[in-house]
This record gives sequence, structure tokens and C-alpha cells, in this order.
Amino acid sequence: MQRLSKILLYYKFLPISDPKAVMLWQRELCERLGLNGRILISEHGINGTVGGDIDACKEYVKKTKEYFGAMEFKWSEGGAEDFPRLSVKVRDEIVAFGAPGELKVDENGVVGGGVHLKPEEVNTLVEERGDDVVFFDGRNAMEAEIGKFKDAVVPDVTTTHDFIAELESGKYDWMKDKPVVSYCTGGIRCEILSALMKNRGFKEVYQIDGGIVRYGEKYGNDGLWEGSLYVFDKRMHTEFGIGTEDPGFVQLGHCIHCGKGNNKFVNCVNEDTCRQQVLICDECAADVRTSHCGREDCAAVASELAAKQGA
Ligand SMILES: [Zn+2]
Ligand SMILES: [Zn+2]
Repeated sequence: MQRLSKILLYYKFLPISDPKAVMLWQRELCERLGLNGRILISEHGINGTVGGDIDACKEYVKKTKEYFGAMEFKWSEGGAEDFPRLSVKVRDEIVAFGAPGELKVDENGVVGGGVHLKPEEVNTLVEERGDDVVFFDGRNAMEAEIGKFKDAVVPDVTTTHDFIAELESGKYDWMKDKPVVSYCTGGIRCEILSALMKNRGFKEVYQIDGGIVRYGEKYGNDGLWEGSLYVFDKRMHTEFGIGTEDPGFVQLGHCIHCGKGNNKFVNCVNEDTCRQQVLICDECAADVRTSHCGREDCAAVASELAAKQGA
């Protein structure tokens, strides 16, 4: 009989004086409970996702709260088998912005971050301030190809490491006096991003409690969100409400080869020199000639492979 299992997602910003000791304790705890997943610990807090038996997950939550105090755990479908192994590590940052020295954290969390808004408060802000409100995507630009807030500004970033240069480029100075709502998948990236923005002269910065996930749970396809949500597990993307069949669903993603509506990213076939994840529909991905990212050298690799296969 299959036992019930779950995946937990969580983070907390809290000063940790001895991250290594916490790491060893967390590792021992997860091993004892048979949990797999990935946990990062820094002197600023903890960021993790683990999966396993439902009772083991409950015990993990209880023990972790004993140390970290009140914190929110998001439960989702899955289990230990969704992770290759258990990895518990100490890092300079629990999200790699390349700014460990700039981030300030106290018992209440990140110091000097954006004002937290509940999903309904986001809508109220837009009702009151109208087009003046700017949505600022706190994710990698690729993620916004399949879904984003309506009319959002999507910075040109490949990883969170690119944000500081992007914020300091001058490109976004026009929004420094406007109400800016930063957003990301579950909220953790914006805890840091909103503080980095305020430090760089953005005067009125907000962040969404629980991120896009919570906003989407509340409003589905009938709010200010458009399209799918990129997720970092096997699913690759998820939709709100009843999904793409929802009359309110906005199809943003399209296959780069045939143009058909598509929300699934795949790896470019030229895996040796290209790490691109690109939007390619199932049909085009099944044909090696259209399984590349569009770059000239990648297209050439795809043609060569096709020739070898006698396609
Ligand atoms: Zn296609
Ligand atoms: Zn490529």
C-alpha cells in the first residue's frame, strides 16, 4: 500500500549565529525522518523544500518551529522521490543575489524591505492608484514568458545575481517615485529584492505576502495575474483556477518554432554548449530538427543530429 507523502516549502529570515550547527541539526533531523530535498542555511535564515512521509513532514515542521518560532509551511503534492537526495548546506545567502553584506535581518525578518500586501490589498492599491502602480517581476526573465502580472516590468535577468546591476543601470529610475509592487513565486526573492530596491532609492516598494502562489489561489484567472506560473519541480509550470480551459486564462507562452500556445520549457538539444530552457511544444520537441533554442549553432547541431537519424 502506498503511504501518503507530501512536499514542504518554507523559508524564514532570522539571525542565526551558528549556521553550521543548525545545518548539522537539520541534516540529522531529515536523515532520521527519511526526508529528501534541499535546505540552505545562512546567518540570515533558512530556505528549504523537503519531501517524504506525511507523518515525517509533520514531525519536521514541529521540530523546526521549536527552533525558528512561527513560520509558514506550504504543503504540496509529492514526496521524497521527487528529489534526487538530501542536501543541507550552509551558504552566504539563502537566495543568491550576491549581496550577503547588504542584507540586514532581525527577529522580525528582513530589515528595510517592502511593505507586505495581502492579495486583496494588491487589488485595492491598483483600484486606488490606477496606472501609476508598477508591477516589477522579481524572477528570472524567462519565467515571465508564460505568465506575469498585467503590464508588469520584466527586468533583463538570467539569475537573481543579475538584479543589482539591473537596478543600478538607470533603466528603472523612472519608477523610483511610483508605487512599485515586486512579486515572485512564493515571496522569498522579493523579501530581499524589495530591500535592495529601497536601498537604491525606490521610495514606495511593496511585496506580496505568499507571492504569486497566494495571489493565484485567491483570484485564479479573474484578477491581475495573466497566464501560467513557472515552478521549480517536475511539473515545470502550473495554472490557476481550472487551468488553460478557464475563460479568463491568458495564453502568453508560445512555441518558438510553430507559434502554438505552449507553457512548457524544454532544454535545448545542444546540451554541450547551450543551457537554455526554451518554450517548445510537444510536437516540435518530438522532432529533433525543431528541438533547439533558435541559436544558429544550436540549429546546426539539431540538423546534424537529424541527418544522423536519417530524418
Ligand atoms: Zn511547436
Ligand atoms: Zn541552444
